[in-house]
Amino acid sequence: GNKMEDDIAKGWRMTQGVTMAEENDCLFCKIAAGQIPSTKVYEDDTVYAFEDINPVSEVHVLVIPKKHYPNAAAVASADPQLFAHIVETAQAIADKRCDGAFHLLFNTGEAAGQTVFHCHAHVLGGKPDAAKLV
Ligand code: 5GP
Repeated sequence: GNKMEDDIAKGWRMTQGVTMAEENDCLFCKIAAGQIPSTKVYEDDTVYAFEDINPVSEVHVLVIPKKHYPNAAAVASADPQLFAHIVETAQAIADKRCDGAFHLLFNTGEAAGQTVFHCHAHVLGGKPDAAKLV
């Protein structure tokens, strides 16, 4: 892009605490951009939803913002409408797949089990996979 766009992007990263290296090397940025394959469940201009590669229940879908944010709180404070859209997308997927009943989980921080530092909502529904819970 041009210099002004670069400066805006740089300013945005600074407010989010996101470094260029993190953003360029982000697995879920690449999945959202179609650079790494995934099983798509839903997509629009701002969010992307796909099957978790290691499902822990009958329904295990991840909903992510296309734009990089490190965790749920970062999305909620920077763009509350986008955060609401993630939650509504999770509900719409659960409506189709598991009668609207689901757990919505955002792991935040390494100590809490977050392994991918791009905000993702786990949509968990149906029977848990007992083998994965032991
Ligand atoms: P976290 O532990 O950060 O909350 O969740 C990361 C989730 O992403 C895990 O449930 C893991 O199975 C899933 N995951 C990690 N890498 C990939 C991948 O390359 N493709 C897909 N579809 N899911 C992934």
